[in-house]
Amino acid sequence: MQKQIAVIRGDGIGPEIVNQALRVLDAVAQKYGHTFQYTDVDMGGCAIDKWGEPLPKAQLDKCLASDSVLLGAVGGPKWEGLPGDKRPEKGLLRLRAGMGLYANNRPARLWPQLAEASPLKPSIVARGIDFLVVRELIGGVYFGGHTTQEVNGELVATDIMPYAEHEIERIGRIGFETALKRRKKLCCVDKANVLDTSRLWRRVMHRLQSEYPGVEYSEMFVDNAAMQLCKDPSQFDVIVTENMFGDILSDEASMITGSIGMIPSSSLGEGSRGLYEPIHGSAPDIAGQDKANPIGTILSAGMMLRYSFDAPAEADAIERAVNAVLDAGLRTGDMMSEGCTLVGCAAMGDAILAQL
Ligand code: NAD
Repeated sequence: MQKQIAVIRGDGIGPEIVNQALRVLDAVAQKYGHTFQYTDVDMGGCAIDKWGEPLPKAQLDKCLASDSVLLGAVGGPKWEGLPGDKRPEKGLLRLRAGMGLYANNRPARLWPQLAEASPLKPSIVARGIDFLVVRELIGGVYFGGHTTQEVNGELVATDIMPYAEHEIERIGRIGFETALKRRKKLCCVDKANVLDTSRLWRRVMHRLQSEYPGVEYSEMFVDNAAMQLCKDPSQFDVIVTENMFGDILSDEASMITGSIGMIPSSSLGEGSRGLYEPIHGSAPDIAGQDKANPIGTILSAGMMLRYSFDAPAEADAIERAVNAVLDAGLRTGDMMSEGCTLVGCAAMGDAILAQL
């Protein structure tokens, strides 16, 4: 197979972790006889420095012309004072919207070797953690209107959270379809006791429910879901939820599985082209120090092979290599525990390559 991959290294640890993922993709290409060609795309703070905006149209066009996009992370303190639409994260929102990526898929799985790194009690962890958050990505409050106006001598800020039925239906369907491929349980997380958008979510989900009798469907308020994720995460298989709730819950999910540096994600819309990225940010506190965990990005490249390029054997090979390296006791600082060997970002990449 021959594929064109747009590569966004971004800011902070982005370039370090993406470089390791590209080495892994090259090794997979060599082993399985594929050709991957890479196109560099500027997005985030580095694009602001170079082009004056976080995702110029020409850079977005390169992504749209590719078979898929691999992203490190964007942002950092250098650009934090800029106005909203000039900030690095705006590039990410523009990219998701521009590519029509409405479904963000974030697996939260505890690698048994990292059980000690989970902040949850061993008795909770022993029940297993293996669920997936399907987050709506291009609607809701992040994309509604944002205004700050002076009213009666003080500033009043308003953020609007719109959802149309078709937006809920397409992500709800992905929730049900994903559940069918897993343990056949779907939980819709919302705030239907307060929000109209959540009540509309439930109405649409109930319509879909009748099409998927094989899926055990349930509903939970988001405040309770945040609590249940700590109390007994083993109860979840697939969670489907709106943009902001999904943003928050998936970070919580990453924490309970040990390290934010381990978790990949995929974002998909219509068709096979996707955006693949680790769920963490640009970690400016450790940038340029060879301390970052590249596994979330490497597993994201694996998800690209599985979901966009229909290459499950290649994706399995990457996951097996990661598993073997964890078995061998190699750890980056974020997941270090007693008796293990501390390695840097590049050495972790070397070890995974050696396993491949
Ligand atoms: P962060 O995820 O960058 O870092 C949180 C903590 O986790 C830090 O202590 C960091 O060192 C650690 N960490 C994160 N990834 C790691 C890895 N791979 N290996 C080891 N340790 C890791 O979140 P933050 O500090 O809130 O944000 C930093 C910047 O990243 C901000 O500018 C933020 O806006 C941006 N951000 C970008 C994205 C993205 O590009 N998708 C996502 C979230 C945050």
